[in-house]
Amino acid sequence: MTASDTVTTQHWIDGAYSGAASGETYDDVDPASGEVFARIANGGAADVDRALAAARRAFDTGPWPRTTAAQRAKVLRRLAELLVEHREELARLESRDAGKPFRETAERDVPRAADNCAFFASAIEQREQAAFFDRKPFLGTQREIVSIVREEPVGVCALLTPWNSPLMQATWKIAPAIAAGNTCVLKPSELTPLSTLRLAELCTQAGVPDGVVNVVTGFGPAAGAPLVADARVDAVAFTGSEATGIAINTAAAATLKKVTLELGGKSANVVCDDADLELAVEGSVLAMFRHSGQVCLAGTRMYVQRGIYDRFLERYLERVRALRVGDPQSHESDLGPLITAGHRERVERFCAQAGDDGVETLLRGARPSDPALARGNYLAPTIFAPRDESQTIAHEEVFGPVLSVFRFETLDEVVARANATRFGLSSYIWTANVATGMRFAQNVRAGMCWINGYFLRDLRQPFGGVGMSGLGREGGRWSLDFFTEPKLVCISY
Ligand code: NAD
Repeated sequence: MTASDTVTTQHWIDGAYSGAASGETYDDVDPASGEVFARIANGGAADVDRALAAARRAFDTGPWPRTTAAQRAKVLRRLAELLVEHREELARLESRDAGKPFRETAERDVPRAADNCAFFASAIEQREQAAFFDRKPFLGTQREIVSIVREEPVGVCALLTPWNSPLMQATWKIAPAIAAGNTCVLKPSELTPLSTLRLAELCTQAGVPDGVVNVVTGFGPAAGAPLVADARVDAVAFTGSEATGIAINTAAAATLKKVTLELGGKSANVVCDDADLELAVEGSVLAMFRHSGQVCLAGTRMYVQRGIYDRFLERYLERVRALRVGDPQSHESDLGPLITAGHRERVERFCAQAGDDGVETLLRGARPSDPALARGNYLAPTIFAPRDESQTIAHEEVFGPVLSVFRFETLDEVVARANATRFGLSSYIWTANVATGMRFAQNVRAGMCWINGYFLRDLRQPFGGVGMSGLGREGGRWSLDFFTEPKLVCISY
């Protein structure tokens, strides 16, 4: 049985599949083979309207916002179990839809999606709510005051996700949203909707009432834009590109919706002279080339200190040359295809421009010559050594297997250069000296900094960036802060 036999390709609204109001579908293409393997409901304003009506009804009169935290936690724990039970199926689907190595979807993405659900089950149960005690004069008498902060769900949430880690991203938004008692409409990327639709079905199986989790498939302008603009939506949680984030923030402002934006990056990865060479090489390869560089956190600007530069680079290039580009379903592949043929061309245009700009090329990545890979959007790693951050390749988010390498002398210099970007998502430093690592972490303008590590993230921690990398934070209590509204209730006696 192939993945296409197992997937349903309609919207998930009010606990059931239904086609687009227009009757239209669009093709979902396997990035590894160029084959159409699913036809997806092409959503528009009428479908968004129906999904929002269901979500609004489920919020305003349905049982979910009126359940206890313990009841919601029980459902989320069941959802986590179902994700684990369906790990193989979901990992295959995700790997085929997103072109992501199966090894990664099976060992990382699906388990992480399950962990997100279990985590927010516990987080909502353990969430503390505040009470304040005081005495105040009121109308000529002294009154005892008890102020309680009641945390309530925000309402109907619009959730918009990108294509690079669709299932993980969907659970990262759905789990805290419904843990807090909200209802939602999720618009997955048009390029990778399949695992999200399956997730919505599993939500129902886990006991989420109809209308609480709805999924409308389709393209950004046709299905995403009417969702964000609709006055029935109370909050918007978006992960995606800088340009779309700006458009969403602008549209949401008209009705003053709460917004969180997780956007792109051009993150610095700093290797100091005293770094553990092997750890830094392996960690830096992972930080750059995981999912072919199609990761918001990718350390796409690598700064190597003068004393270790030659030794490090020799070893790094050796490791990158050994990365295997191939079928994402194979356990042997390190890099799968890029998401679409158009995206690969965009990445290649960046590389061509770097050539025109006179940027030195340390490793030239090309489309593989293996005829078995000819129909997929494969591209081998490319490494440039730009003059400085002003060159296009060194400051734009390429979102592909393309690295810029620089040499640096001092910590102050590298901090300034790491900060020479409009983005501020992540940062990395490899050093044996804790003080060096901490000084870098204190001064780097980024939402996250890993010292001697890459994406070692506890689910309790915040995730997100500064500058053009986003607004607000997700993860841990920050997600629950976003998906709740504090209401003051004051009693005097
Ligand atoms: P994208 O902005 O093109 O699309 C993201 C989502 O927004 C999709 O569902 C899309 O259909 C929708 N959309 C597009 N235009 C819209 C509009 N006008 N109104 C409403 N919705 C609209 O991003 P992408 O190409 O899918 O993903 C890649 C980008 O996402 C990269 O920039 C990457 O860095 C970023 N990203 C960020 C994080 C993070 O956590 N910071 C994580 C993953 C990816």
